[in-house]
Amino acid sequence: MSSRSSRRPAAAASGAPADAGLVAARLERLHVGARTELDHRDAFELLVATVLSAQTTDVRVNQVTPGLFSRWPGPAALAEADEDAVTEQVRPLGMGATRARRIIGLSRALLVDHDGEVPDDQAALERLPGVGRKTAHVVRGAWFGRSLLAVDTHVGRLSRRLGWTTATDPRAVEEDVVARVEADGTGADAEDLTMLGLRLILHGRRVCTARAPRCGECVLADLCPSAGEAP
Ligand code: SF4
Repeated sequence: MSSRSSRRPAAAASGAPADAGLVAARLERLHVGARTELDHRDAFELLVATVLSAQTTDVRVNQVTPGLFSRWPGPAALAEADEDAVTEQVRPLGMGATRARRIIGLSRALLVDHDGEVPDDQAALERLPGVGRKTAHVVRGAWFGRSLLAVDTHVGRLSRRLGWTTATDPRAVEEDVVARVEADGTGADAEDLTMLGLRLILHGRRVCTARAPRCGECVLADLCPSAGEAP
């Protein structure tokens, strides 16, 4: 046995998947007050901010959305907006023209198909331009209070490290994690997939980072089959 593996907690060293109920309960205590980090005042702003967050950070999105929503408040205003002006507004995020077209098209579709209201309906949301399964889950989970796992890069990475899945496809990760939570879900709010996802994201940003996970400080180390082994 190597010196590194000899220092690993016994449960983690067994290689068994981490108990999802215990993970959820510990993350709930650690990441108190977890919520989406995208600033918003209503469902429309959350939807647009989530669409804009593709391939950039929440912090950067929060820097452009106050100006965006101040100039074009609501779907009716954004649907009529000049595309070049919106492009200028979102340019700091990169791919400004693409993002502008996307959120203008999204606003128009909301007006035409839903009278400007964001629907609490998975299929209807996924039919909107630029909206996929993850974005729909973020909005329905954070705004409408649904229990839905939004699989981003952090949730995928942690789920693999915790032994809940070997998948990389987000839909397959989601199915594996939901099955694991249903099998193990005995913790404080393990069944609340929205909150579990938000806490996994925070843990991924602060502790279990992609390149340098801080296993020595991690509250999940005795449960995690990757403790001390993750790159
Ligand atoms: S930081 Fe280490 S122990 Fe904690 S979840 Fe990540 S890989 Fe597992």
